[in-house]
Amino acid sequence: MKIAVASGKGGTGKTTVAVNLSLFLVDADLKVTYADCDVEEPDGHLFLKPEITLKHRSAVLVPQVNPEACNLCGECGAFCRYSAIVVLKEEVMTFPELCHSCGGCAYVCSVQAITEVDRYIGSVDRGSAGKLNFISGCLDIGQAMGPPLIKAVLRNITDDGITIVDAPPGTSCPAMTAVGDCDYLLLVAEPTPFGRHDLELMLQAVGSLPMPRGVVLNRVSGPDTAIEKLCSRYGVPILSRIPEDRRVAEAYSKGLTAWKAVPGYKALFADLWSKIEPVAGRYTA
Ligand code: SF4
Ligand code: SF4
Repeated sequence: MKIAVASGKGGTGKTTVAVNLSLFLVDADLKVTYADCDVEEPDGHLFLKPEITLKHRSAVLVPQVNPEACNLCGECGAFCRYSAIVVLKEEVMTFPELCHSCGGCAYVCSVQAITEVDRYIGSVDRGSAGKLNFISGCLDIGQAMGPPLIKAVLRNITDDGITIVDAPPGTSCPAMTAVGDCDYLLLVAEPTPFGRHDLELMLQAVGSLPMPRGVVLNRVSGPDTAIEKLCSRYGVPILSRIPEDRRVAEAYSKGLTAWKAVPGYKALFADLWSKIEPVAGRYTA
């Protein structure tokens, strides 16, 4: 069972929810993996402090042109939708950072002038934090292609047990790549005008995905009928309201988990899980 924890913007407390839910499930004697797919800025390790036992570099395939074999026919440049390979008068130029690794340019080259070579984009770490399995992806500085690395993280997930996928924030390709194959989607939002706006963008972005979903409101300090109306309009239940609590921020700033630092968090996540498990379980079955 894969539970994605996502948000329409950064800073909502998505990782707090993902980490604390993971720790709650481990405490309940379940087999759990925390998978950090926020590859541009992974920070789950700051709270879980895992012991990393396996680290591997992740690469994508990009074209390399052999000028001796190339006849400058232009087919590869005409095929590429991303302008990652451009045929000029006297040479073919490639722009690996724009390449989506579809392999099409090599396929259409009738003289086999193109070979596909590795381009390293980041690393995937594996390890454990106590009984919790830990996987995390980290893009190299300057790399812009998150989805291939996110897929590499997801490939490392084994099928047994429960995986909490900490998705990248936002509604673009990286976030959709992380959540697309999950069994349940947990959306974390703040009850502020900005938070409501970004939650609506997220609800629209995932509108065509089939899995069940629910919302966690974080840093709640009073009623917010506007966000309740929004969720009701999209038919998405509000599963939990995590109160604004200075002790959470203090624990966060010290790299501690609220699970350990704040009394009441265990009950809060037990209640959240009791609402997710039956729905996600039915979907998985
Ligand atoms: S592999 Fe695909 S995206 Fe990359 S340069 Fe070739 S055609 Fe373009
Ligand atoms: S398709 Fe092959 S031969 Fe034609 S321009 Fe591209 S690399 Fe050169």
